[in-house]
Amino acid sequence: MLEDFKCRCCGACCRIEDGIVRVSDAEISRIAAFLGMGESDFIANETDVAPDRKGLVLKSRADGACAYLTEDNLCRINPVKPDKCRTFPFEWTNPDSANVCPGLALVSGQGS
Ligand code: SF4
Ligand code: SF4
Repeated sequence: MLEDFKCRCCGACCRIEDGIVRVSDAEISRIAAFLGMGESDFIANETDVAPDRKGLVLKSRADGACAYLTEDNLCRINPVKPDKCRTFPFEWTNPDSANVCPGLALVSGQGS
């Protein structure tokens, strides 16, 4: 049951190859402010155009991980992270999410 979900802080959901994290205007504003950057600088240096060219996404590292994932699997912008990150897996999942997320696999009956 989803109410039993506990995040294992493994960071797997932040290092999905070809995964993207779209950012809205409001999210850009709050993340830029949190980082002490102007919005223009943030957009220029911390985002890319989405693959479908409809909006912006957070930059990924060369290995596909989100640029904000720390070495110890924490989110460097946790207090202001995008809604997509904040609401997973309670408000949305993908069909294969339990294959990525061990916490979700456990409450889905797919883990051990
Ligand atoms: S913003 Fe934070 S929570 Fe979202 S993918 Fe990046 S590191 Fe993970
Ligand atoms: S993959 Fe699941 S358990 Fe791991 S950090 Fe993401 S939400 Fe938490």
